[in-house]
Amino acid sequence: MGIATINPATGELLKTFEPHNDQQIAAKLDLAQQAFEHYRTTSFQHRSGWMQKAAETLEQQKADFAKIMTLEMGKTYKSAIAEVEKCAWVCRYYAEHAAQFLGDVYVETDASKSFIKYQPLGAILAIMPWNFPFWQVFRFAAPALMAGNVGLLKHASNVPQCALAIEEIIQGAGFPKGVFQTLLIGADKIADLITDERIKAATLTGSEPAGASLAAAAGKQIKKTVLELGGSDPFIVLESADLEAAVATATTARMLNNGQSCIAAKRFIVHEAIADQFEKLLLEKYQALKIGDPMQPDTDIGPLATPSILHDLDQQVQTCIQSGAKILIGGEALADRPGNFYPPTIVTELSPDSAIAKEEFFGPVALLFRIPNLDEAIKLANATPFGLGASAWTTNSQEQQRLIDEIEAGAVFINGMVKSDPRISFGGIKRSGYGRELGIHGIHEFVNIKTVWVK
Ligand code: NDP
Repeated sequence: MGIATINPATGELLKTFEPHNDQQIAAKLDLAQQAFEHYRTTSFQHRSGWMQKAAETLEQQKADFAKIMTLEMGKTYKSAIAEVEKCAWVCRYYAEHAAQFLGDVYVETDASKSFIKYQPLGAILAIMPWNFPFWQVFRFAAPALMAGNVGLLKHASNVPQCALAIEEIIQGAGFPKGVFQTLLIGADKIADLITDERIKAATLTGSEPAGASLAAAAGKQIKKTVLELGGSDPFIVLESADLEAAVATATTARMLNNGQSCIAAKRFIVHEAIADQFEKLLLEKYQALKIGDPMQPDTDIGPLATPSILHDLDQQVQTCIQSGAKILIGGEALADRPGNFYPPTIVTELSPDSAIAKEEFFGPVALLFRIPNLDEAIKLANATPFGLGASAWTTNSQEQQRLIDEIEAGAVFINGMVKSDPRISFGGIKRSGYGRELGIHGIHEFVNIKTVWVK
């Protein structure tokens, strides 16, 4: 299937879109280039006014935007509303703080005056996934546009209506024409696009193969990339943890977005002294989750975004079973209805050394492991090719310090759920990618950090 809206809750094909042809793509690249020449000279005050307007539009029309998201990728409507609100927040945050993050930084040297100046790079290509179809885009666009760059969005092929709505929001907010454009194209166009001299850098959120392919093509052109790829985040629960709070957060952290989040807690690493109790409470929480129509306000778990996500997850769980693991709940796709529904699933007794235990599970499947002590918890947490986030639960300050120091990840949250926040940097290490989004480090990714030295 090319670029299309298919309702994941029913499997119904709702709308197809003609991809942009080579002439249309070339015209958009020209427009981006022309827009940049002027836009780079606009003041923070102007950019801030437009960004604030985008935030207003998001808030005023949040019901419409949330509906499109639910329709195209199946997240619950209530979570889609929260996503739009978070997008308004990120727009406001960078409208208010970009000037401060990008102000000249004076450094004393042997010059009479020396400082660091931040200048925009030009057109940045953003290749984005379907799982948070608004948030992932605004998380890139708010800081990048405030820095004076222009954006070209290649969104996932299953969320074209989201992609077009976002273009409209940004254009409608008053940004000069061409500052933000959506390209309706397949992934096969990316390798060529990145060689185009009008594109200066790229960011990609998605799978490892997509990230590796972009980075290889960009590397040949000596163009910068930021990659935010998969994760298999550990969720460590030690003896002193507030168990009720840990279990409640463990449920949210795994089930968020029907389990399809890069920073979802995926491997639950629990001290053996409390593991029976943790397992029992988690099972109760999972049993209480309501699966169904994502538009209904009482639905907790909607469908997975695509049949291939469902198929891959199903295969992974089957592999766990074949490797000797036990299933406490769930474990099979729901065949009694149309759509891509997979139930909340808990896998136990899986060998942490098995190849399948090292994979990312992109759906509502929790892997439970038991460990005898903190050393083993840290060892198992780090026994993954990924390094995105980690959540750890303990009230012991020495344990907290070791977790902060020794976990190999881009973020460690103690007694809380890993989340992205406009104010703090976000990104991973190892095969989870490189570079950062958000925060002062994120806004500095797509700028020329220019050293100025005056005798
Ligand atoms: P993809 O990585 O294939 O898709 C993400 C984006 O990358 C889409 O815009 C896609 O376009 C594009 N893309 C795909 N292949 C390439 C390529 N070779 N070069 C450049 N861009 C490319 O993710 P999937 O939707 O296939 O999901 C597969 C797995 O990826 C998931 O199971 C999960 O593990 C991971 N994933 C991680 C996400 C995260 O938040 N880190 C988000 C989504 C997925 P198109 O849609 O046209 O193919």
